Amino acid sequence: MEQKRCIVVGAGIGGLAASIRMAARNYEVSVLEKNKLPGGKMHQIERNGFRFDTGPSLFTLPHLVTELLNLGPEPSEPTFRYEKLKNVCRYFYDDGTMINVPGNPEDFAREAEIKTGEPAANIINYLNTARERYRSSADLFIFNPLKNLISSARHKKPEELKPLLKVKPLRSMHKENEIAFQSSQIIQLFDRYATYNGSSPFKASSMLNMISHLEHDEGAYFPEKGMYNIVESLYHKALSLGVKFQFETAVTHLVSEKDSITKVIAGNKELEADLVISDVDVNTLYRGPARKLKMPRSVKKPDLSSSALIFYWGMNRTFPQLDVHNILFSTDYRGEFRAIFNNHQLFNDPTVYIFVSSKIVEADAPKGKENWFVMINVPPGTEKTDQEWIKQARENILKKIHRTLKINPREDILFEEIATPKTIETNTGSWKGALYGNNSNSIWSAFLRHQNKSRKYHNLFFTGGSVHPGGGIPLCLASAAIVEKEINQQ
Ligand SMILES: Cc1cc2nc3c(=O)[nH]c(=O)nc-3n(C[C@H](O)[C@H](O)[C@H](O)COP(=O)(O)OP(=O)(O)OC[C@H]3O[C@@H](n4cnc5c(N)ncnc54)[C@H](O)[C@@H]3O)c2cc1C
Repeated sequence: MEQKRCIVVGAGIGGLAASIRMAARNYEVSVLEKNKLPGGKMHQIERNGFRFDTGPSLFTLPHLVTELLNLGPEPSEPTFRYEKLKNVCRYFYDDGTMINVPGNPEDFAREAEIKTGEPAANIINYLNTARERYRSSADLFIFNPLKNLISSARHKKPEELKPLLKVKPLRSMHKENEIAFQSSQIIQLFDRYATYNGSSPFKASSMLNMISHLEHDEGAYFPEKGMYNIVESLYHKALSLGVKFQFETAVTHLVSEKDSITKVIAGNKELEADLVISDVDVNTLYRGPARKLKMPRSVKKPDLSSSALIFYWGMNRTFPQLDVHNILFSTDYRGEFRAIFNNHQLFNDPTVYIFVSSKIVEADAPKGKENWFVMINVPPGTEKTDQEWIKQARENILKKIHRTLKINPREDILFEEIATPKTIETNTGSWKGALYGNNSNSIWSAFLRHQNKSRKYHNLFFTGGSVHPGGGIPLCLASAAIVEKEINQQ
């Protein structure tokens, strides 16, 4: 039988996953990628003996990666290895409190009680609720097309849906956390999960409080060779299944005829396709290659997720007070989110995330040194990100580190690289540098998100962080699985 041709536009994590799935289904798959290398937001920098993962650093649900590596006639050589982190994260507060969150709920609850006075039972109850919510909703909201919501729910037993019926979706994440906990530090710790899809805990629905279940209960993991190894492993898997990659090939045009996409144009290349799967941020896609297609309302006026300003610092020494993942919390979390989503400004007391992969992957920094990935959330948008803006943010970060950790890292920075909303947009095609497409600041966000199959074109599909079910590695991988289901059903 003649093989059907599938073109995947973009080799981000969603595009790689979709290419593997379609090749395993015996499609002839070509991936067109504008960059020189695969990965999109999941990239790496190597400099002076240091290696930095440039984008994602928090890794949950690793089985979604291994599942892909086992597709096709021959499972991959097990070159992709990962380990469960002993500690999920270290949280630092300006008053000197440090909560070292261990990888199991009981130890975490004990540590929280010792450090903040929050009764351990409150943490355990909260995580139990998050687990129940996740289990009763994951296949409705994450692993299936949203249009199947009602039919999927019909297949569930009433007791399976009970945890969902107890959710008060109009309540914000913060409000629910305020009701659940006594300690303002624990409230802030759980509020932070809104940032996992670039949203504000003061606006996003309490339904999203289940995100914490993934790290605290299912576990936080790390690939043995760093995050970029996820990309390398998937890329090699795709190659082994016969996927053809064309790098430095930016798609400029999707050509439609009646209800199908007939051709994909990339510069002077013209490729015919039976199926097209786009991994490009939809907000960019409809303003670029798909500008002739009808733009959905959520794309016309996108309510974007946050962006980031990141400094990659090669550090001249090691810092025992830090772990792999570290958060230095703002003293005014509400003010910080107001600055990001309402005032579109830098905040002078930002929450600073410091990720040090060399704590776990020794080869990521020369002996006696560390690779710091230092990130703050900033508004999406590329207009105000000039040198003055970067300088101001850098000062805010250095002051915050000094205030909270009582160290002055200035003299220890050997060199730095910087990522801004502008460079994130240029390098990955994310509209305005938004990390996760549109935000989830409204209870309708999940329903308004762009779906994985085009309504008009029967052979056009969408994967990646800007479409259903959302951004972040696990959800991007889920989006590729949904695309496969949609194509299969068709
Ligand atoms: C700084 C940062 C930190 C993050 N932290 C985490 C984290 O800790 N954990 C987590 O799970 N997630 C995190 N994320 C989110 C996660 O990285 C993304 O959700 C995910 O990587 C997006 O994958 P994607 O499939 O949408 O493709 P993308 O990574 O967006 O890639 C899209 C690809 O399409 C290509 N492209 C664009 N236009 C064209 C065109 N016209 N023609 C051809 N190719 C094109 C781009 O070059 C790019 O390679 C983070 C993201 C960033 C930026």
